[in-house]
Amino acid sequence: MEIKRRLTKSLITLNCLHFPYKSEKKSSHRYRVTVGIGGNVGDVKRRFEHLFIYFKKDKRVELLQTSLILKNPPFGYVNQDYFFNSIIVLQVSMQPLVFLRYLHTIEKKFARKRSFANAPRTLDLDIIFFDDRVIKTHRLVIPHTQWSKRDSVVIPLEGLK
Ligand code: AMP
Repeated sequence: MEIKRRLTKSLITLNCLHFPYKSEKKSSHRYRVTVGIGGNVGDVKRRFEHLFIYFKKDKRVELLQTSLILKNPPFGYVNQDYFFNSIIVLQVSMQPLVFLRYLHTIEKKFARKRSFANAPRTLDLDIIFFDDRVIKTHRLVIPHTQWSKRDSVVIPLEGLK
C-alpha cells in the first residue's frame, strides 16, 4: 500500500513498503552513514525496494533505517521528470573513500549512466553524513555540499525518527 501526502504544489511525500523503515537489530559495524538516494528514470520506487533488499542481504553493511520518499521537481536541467528521493541510514566499517567506491559499484549494478551534470538518472547515491566527519577533498565532500538547502534531503531527513 502507498500513502501519498501533498506538502506543496510541487512536493509529495510517499509511504511505501520499506520506506520508511526502522530496524531493531544491533550492528557490529563502526560508522553510521546517511546516504541520499534518488532517481527519475523508470520505476524508481521499485528500484528503491530492490536497493533496500540489496543492502539487507549485504554483510558489508547493516541497514538501520529508511525515510519516506519525496517526489520533487528537478533542478539544474529542468526539462526532465520529477525525482524521487529518500534517505537510507547504514552502519559500515569501510572508510569513506572505500564506501564511496562501494556506492559507485551499486549505481553501476543498477545501471546508472553518467552523461552530464543534473541529467536524468536511474539511481544516484550520495553520502550526506559519515559519522561526524568533515572531509573536503576533490573526490569527496562530507557533509554533502548543499544538503541543508535541498528539499530532497531535508524533508526525508526530518521524517527520520
Ligand atoms: P554525482 O554525479 O552527483 O553522483 O557526483 C559524483 C561525484 O561526486 C563522485 O564521483 C564523487 O567523487 C563526488 N562526491 C563528492 N562528495 C560526494 C559525496 N558526499 N557523496 C557522493 N559523491 C560525492
